[in-house]
Amino acid sequence: MADSQEFYTYDEQFRDTIATVDAKGKRVWVYPKKPSGRYHARRIGVSILLLSLLFAGPFIKIGGEPLLLLNVFERRFVIMGHPFWPQDFILLAITLIIFFVFIILFTVVFGRLWCGWMCPQTLFMEMVFRKIEYWIEGDAPAQRRLNTQPVNWEKLWKKTAKHTLFILISILISHTAMAYLIGVEAVGKIVTEPPDENMAGFIGLVAFTGIFYFNFAKFREQACIAVCPYGRLQGVLLIKESIVVAYDWVRGEPRGKIKKNSSTEKTGDCIDCKLCVHVCPTGIDIRHGTQLECVNCTACIDACDDVMVKIGKPKGLIRFASYNSIKEGVQKIITPRVIGYSFVLMALIGVLSFSLINRSDVKVTALKVPGTLYQRNGELITNLYNLEFINKTFKEIKLELQVAEPAAARLKNVDGKDIVIPAEGLLKRVYFIEIPESAITTAKMEIKLNVVQDGDIIQTVKAKFIGPVHHASDAKKK
Ligand code: SF4
Ligand code: SF4
Repeated sequence: MADSQEFYTYDEQFRDTIATVDAKGKRVWVYPKKPSGRYHARRIGVSILLLSLLFAGPFIKIGGEPLLLLNVFERRFVIMGHPFWPQDFILLAITLIIFFVFIILFTVVFGRLWCGWMCPQTLFMEMVFRKIEYWIEGDAPAQRRLNTQPVNWEKLWKKTAKHTLFILISILISHTAMAYLIGVEAVGKIVTEPPDENMAGFIGLVAFTGIFYFNFAKFREQACIAVCPYGRLQGVLLIKESIVVAYDWVRGEPRGKIKKNSSTEKTGDCIDCKLCVHVCPTGIDIRHGTQLECVNCTACIDACDDVMVKIGKPKGLIRFASYNSIKEGVQKIITPRVIGYSFVLMALIGVLSFSLINRSDVKVTALKVPGTLYQRNGELITNLYNLEFINKTFKEIKLELQVAEPAAARLKNVDGKDIVIPAEGLLKRVYFIEIPESAITTAKMEIKLNVVQDGDIIQTVKAKFIGPVHHASDAKKK
């Protein structure tokens, strides 16, 4: 993205290493200066809203069912109070594709807005864990001093207090994450019962807590820089019209300290105070152009705006802007790529809507009992079937089965019981189907069964019926 020929002719060293790893490959700990400003205030508001929703989510019920449950262990999924089964995999696949196309489209237009404003990693890191750190240890210089000073009472109590709070919050996050996986009631049982009664769940909670604590106490920005696949995709997703946190090099360069009584030496607005670098939680210098490490947190915008106000220049030397809008002064949003992605997204949403509207509450399958052929009872030929009924709803469902084709076929329920499928349940029944030999047309003919609910045919199920070969018409063909 960055056009080095235009404004970075003097220092290209930043391309050789990343800011958080030194030349020997050792981690460089980032001590970002405490951010403040109009964007930071807005981010606090958005964070409070999103984190409240995240923590409240497991307790929100729609019609008595969770807002979101992704129980991959028991293959039970509830979205907006609607149950989804592994049989709905195709819907899940389309939803995921829509999600990815939406992310691509969103990124092409607005860059990494998601990372700075909505991603749980950034929200927790910058708005929870980092805030606690500033509160207990102070701003960046105080943190640096505390980390390098020998162990004394101050260091001991500050580190103990900080890490105790970090662990407590990690416990809270792990329980919330678990509640989205197994449900808030199941988490409640793990918490209130002795660990040996729910050992797997207990180990899961401890492991989650450890992962979250390690991530937010130690790993931090490395999750965005080295692990997050979305971050690594920026190089291919961003275009020159994407709106990102950008430094206006046209206005800012040539940079340099303000010198008294000099009106000719420097013309750019950047006074090279490096405050934008000092506040950056990923340790980069945004003046080098758009970089993979930038999570669009806007801390550098606020820092630079403050500087501009102090030196009497307009705000926005660093701002949300596209490369082309800075270079040419024109911001374009509708580009051929945006039109193309929008078209694909609309088409996929159409397919998903159609599939959801036509999704049935019941799935019925009829399969011949393995290893059986047919039985003869005088003129009647009989086949044995396993029928499986899946109820995808939270209510009990009563069904009837009727033969649709051939008309001469008769259906016999082996155990004589009604078809009553429990809520979210599976019911198995064994049926005989009898067909007079004279009505059998092929050795392997197709039969159709109607599934009836409250007098309406809700599905037609197909199955194969095996008859005597010598009678079948395909035998005649031989
Ligand atoms: S904060 Fe603004 S003025 Fe200071 S170095 Fe960064 S871009 Fe230049
Ligand atoms: S460059 Fe600016 S927006 Fe990007 S991560 Fe650093 S401070 Fe945040």
